[in-house]
Amino acid sequence: MHDEKPFFMRDHWEYDPAAKPGPGPDAGLGFDTRALHSGFHPLRDVEKFRSFVPPIVQSMTYPYEQFDRFPDYIYGRSKTPTTSVLEERLAALEGGEGAVTGSSGSQSLFSLIFTLCRPGDNVVTSLNIFGEGYKQAASIFPDRTNVAFRFVPDPASPESWDGQIDERTRLVWVETPSNPTLFVTDIPAVADVAHAHGIPLLVDNTIATAALQQPMAMGADIVLLSLTKFLVGNATVLGGAIVGPEALVEDIRWNTQEFVGAIMQPLESWLTLQFLETLSLRMDRHSSNAQKVAEFLADHPKVARVNYPGLPDHPQHDLAQRQMKANGGLLSFVVPGGFAGAAAVMDNVGLVVHAVTFGTSRTICMHPPTITHEHMTPEERAAAGIDDGLIRLSVGLEDPDDIIADLGQALAKL
Ligand code: PLP
Repeated sequence: MHDEKPFFMRDHWEYDPAAKPGPGPDAGLGFDTRALHSGFHPLRDVEKFRSFVPPIVQSMTYPYEQFDRFPDYIYGRSKTPTTSVLEERLAALEGGEGAVTGSSGSQSLFSLIFTLCRPGDNVVTSLNIFGEGYKQAASIFPDRTNVAFRFVPDPASPESWDGQIDERTRLVWVETPSNPTLFVTDIPAVADVAHAHGIPLLVDNTIATAALQQPMAMGADIVLLSLTKFLVGNATVLGGAIVGPEALVEDIRWNTQEFVGAIMQPLESWLTLQFLETLSLRMDRHSSNAQKVAEFLADHPKVARVNYPGLPDHPQHDLAQRQMKANGGLLSFVVPGGFAGAAAVMDNVGLVVHAVTFGTSRTICMHPPTITHEHMTPEERAAAGIDDGLIRLSVGLEDPDDIIADLGQALAKL
């Protein structure tokens, strides 16, 4: 009988500011090579699978060899071969030691907070976060687990972040650029503040993706990803991931995910692997298309404001150019007339699709005040810059002139 602790029984991770995490898998290879080969290479892994494409192992359970010998894979809630390929690829792209997937980005965030925090602890963040994250922060965790979330009053100021941290803070959480207003937070500055207090920094890299922004190289300890968005790129898969130190991701996997939530499933993981192969090509085109659309909107007489880090009048334009390789495919803009103005534009688009998600090959528009950020109070929405007339636009891969023509005819109806 085995007397050692089985590999799936893990201690809880404690952040150690002095410990330098190892490099991500394949750190010596370029980004685009990692996007194709990390986690599985047809020649390197020929003993495991003779295949050019990573295999789908569509099995939820994995046979034991004998009574006291655990297989590498036990059950589909915590680890499967195809999802392990995806997790290694995500870790390689972000430059983290490891990754654990989740059934959505929101679920990955939940598992991270649930694993790290105990009643009485707090997390410091800002109002520049996605709607489901805000709901977790504003009510789900505080009301049910007594974990508090503090929203820094001035997220552009490192002192403001510093002022919210105390001895019960377990995590500092930044989403940059943010959904839906594309606020850009200074990752190295906030990392310095968090680390001075001995606290890890989480960066949500969903909107830029690792193709355009490398938070870990700038001081982040943990990265949150919704794979549902640009990483998959076409709205066929729901998924999420936490990238970070191996001991943290294995804590999440074996102490939380295994019992209360599932990792991504083999088919979804396999599809994601196919789409990741073209990530940087897509992000370049999303960025150049979004720049053209943002410039068109900024010049349009019926548009009151455009939020896009690639525009010179964006409040953190210079910071974004330092922090990101390109400005990404997401923007938002404000039309006059509040809800009615937004409805007039969104009911008149013909090519652009009104739907909830972003990061797809097809251009999508959505109304954050009523659809994703409706749980914020009106005061919080105002502080976060989410005006009633705000429309979020995820610029796709169509010919940019066609996107512009469609928006132009819809704006003409105002
Ligand atoms: N992070 C950001 C920045 C998001 O915008 C979202 C969703 O909108 C998520 C995480 C959560 O993603 P999912 O839809 O996969 O739960």
